[in-house]
Amino acid sequence: MSTEAPGKSKVVNLRRPDIMDLVKAQVLSHYRSELVERLRGAGQVVTPDGQTTIKLAKEFGFCYGVERCIDLAYAARKVFPDQPLYILGEIIHNPEVNDQIRAMGVRFLSGPHKQADIDDLGRGDVVIIPAFGTEVSIRRKLEEKGCQFVDTTCGDVMSVWKRVRQYARDSVTSIIHGKAYHEETMATSSQATANAGHYLVVLTLADTDYVCRYIVEGGDKHEFLAKFKGGYSEGFDPDTHLQVVGVANQTTMMRGETEEVQRRVRAAIEKRFGATDLQQHFRFFDTICGATQDRQDALQRLLREPLDLLLVIGGYNSSNTAHLAEMGEAMLPTYFIKNAAEMVSGQLIRHWNQHQQCAVESQNWLPTGKLTVGVTAGASCPNNLIEDCIRRLIGLRGVAVDDLLQN
Ligand code: SF4
Repeated sequence: MSTEAPGKSKVVNLRRPDIMDLVKAQVLSHYRSELVERLRGAGQVVTPDGQTTIKLAKEFGFCYGVERCIDLAYAARKVFPDQPLYILGEIIHNPEVNDQIRAMGVRFLSGPHKQADIDDLGRGDVVIIPAFGTEVSIRRKLEEKGCQFVDTTCGDVMSVWKRVRQYARDSVTSIIHGKAYHEETMATSSQATANAGHYLVVLTLADTDYVCRYIVEGGDKHEFLAKFKGGYSEGFDPDTHLQVVGVANQTTMMRGETEEVQRRVRAAIEKRFGATDLQQHFRFFDTICGATQDRQDALQRLLREPLDLLLVIGGYNSSNTAHLAEMGEAMLPTYFIKNAAEMVSGQLIRHWNQHQQCAVESQNWLPTGKLTVGVTAGASCPNNLIEDCIRRLIGLRGVAVDDLLQN
């Protein structure tokens, strides 16, 4: 069997034309929405009674990386129809898509729906690596067992890995702007340690300022290590490993915030070592992916238009979706929902509060009278779910969807 990517182990080529034709048809049947495609073209829709306007961001929903990984997972099922098929964890951060993957008989190796353990796998077993990639140690373990891979890691994630590997080889500590326990950041940080390097994960600008102060003035090492517990490499010593640093980021962070992290770390290094030696002590590379950037830019433009409220649709553990919600929250009432059922009634909506990390309920969320609602969705949200939400919203406003389609 041919390979799709370099590596020691066998990587299965699934992109045969006969397979991909079948996959395309199945993926469309699961996730396509004619309504959403029509709205995407038009940009907005007004109900026949003129009371409700729905405006869509220009870019939303599935990104190229997610489309590719879903195609490959579906193709794997077709190439290995009778063989057990495993996946390391959620393929992307969308519960409905993961349900579909499970419904195809793919067994999860982690998470709340875990059905098998990596230790149980053996030679020839087929394992899907999700779009976020996986940690080097897990990959090596599977390689040693002789497993076959269906590697759906997004190319944009792999380009971050390339940077972090280079930092490690050059004895540069990677400061990674991201969430320490996000699959992608865990995979990225493992690239540093696999190459004898060190890393430190910072999530917020407050974290960054703390690190910057330490770079400039030093501080209490034990406090530092306690504060960032779980977010640095084994043996990391802030007194030693913050002298030559390179900034990288999880691909789905807020662009402006990542740039600010870079600026602050650069300024701290310059203050400590001087402008002349800056290049010996500091590197950075912007690794926000194009799809995340496009969705944030499109929402920024949408938010300049008059809107009464914003719906952000996507999985609650989706980082890029959370950032879209964060952008909305700063401007207007924003509801981050995973599906249409969260709009319980015109009075009650359940939605994700990312600051409290839990679902909350809001009353009287849907005003009566003339209303303009902005809609966007994260890179892991399929169009059929977006359609369900639009239908539900229109229904709660007392308009039949058939009327909308004729409009
Ligand atoms: S959000 Fe970006 S990094 Fe993640 S799968 Fe999509 S394109 Fe790739």
